[in-house]
Amino acid sequence: MNGRRSRPLVLMYHAVGERSAPEDPFSLFVPQDRLYEQLSTLLARGWTPLTLDTYLQGVPPPRSVLVTFDDGYQAMLEEGLPVLRELQMPATVFVLGGLLGGTSRWMPEMPDEPLLDAEGVRELVRAGVDVECHGWDHSTLVKASPEALARNTTQAARALTDVTGRRPRAFAYPYGEHDAEARRAVAEAGFEIAFSTYHADGRYATPRVAVSSTDTIVTFRLKSLPSYPAMRQVTGHVPKLRPALHSLIGRAPRS
Ligand SMILES: [Zn+2]
Repeated sequence: MNGRRSRPLVLMYHAVGERSAPEDPFSLFVPQDRLYEQLSTLLARGWTPLTLDTYLQGVPPPRSVLVTFDDGYQAMLEEGLPVLRELQMPATVFVLGGLLGGTSRWMPEMPDEPLLDAEGVRELVRAGVDVECHGWDHSTLVKASPEALARNTTQAARALTDVTGRRPRAFAYPYGEHDAEARRAVAEAGFEIAFSTYHADGRYATPRVAVSSTDTIVTFRLKSLPSYPAMRQVTGHVPKLRPALHSLIGRAPRS
């Protein structure tokens, strides 16, 4: 490792705020103070925060970071935005074109978490946040029918354009999952880039590093290392190593 990341770090958060374990079984909600600590650590260490525009223009400085949030929870306005504003940190939020004003009903374990409605999305845009596309209703794009692919890409993009007055340029796959048909559908729908989670495959499956409420500042710093994707791949392929790694570096306590 030469310590230089060849492309920007893209962080994938979901939501900001305090939730109990039964309310948030997937640890999606990162408390405000934790988000503040994580992002301010990067800034203090000289990382350059990117907007989606500067990210898409390419050739960013070596240690640069794009901060993204999936699903478009209503809590972004009350809990997320104040932290981003205080740090002057640009961010991209991926919302579901078919579920604006709805809830997280695709997760039977937590179906009632409110999502931004159209006015909430416009409020984020007015605050300088990039609002982009996470599909229509959070159904997976893997092995999807042509109709489902069209609904999740073209129709979802149109719905967001109607709300914001601007075509979305970036797509984030629900569950980070994609296949060749999905990548083609996203490209043909006019998106300039698509983000996955860990499974990388060119411009239409750009990987991101997931951050959850189980992350401590130590695991967060580990995840921002250029060697982290390779390290995760190794530990991901040897299941016993992952719990060992976690017990070594600790998990954040939660209520
Ligand atoms: Zn999602």
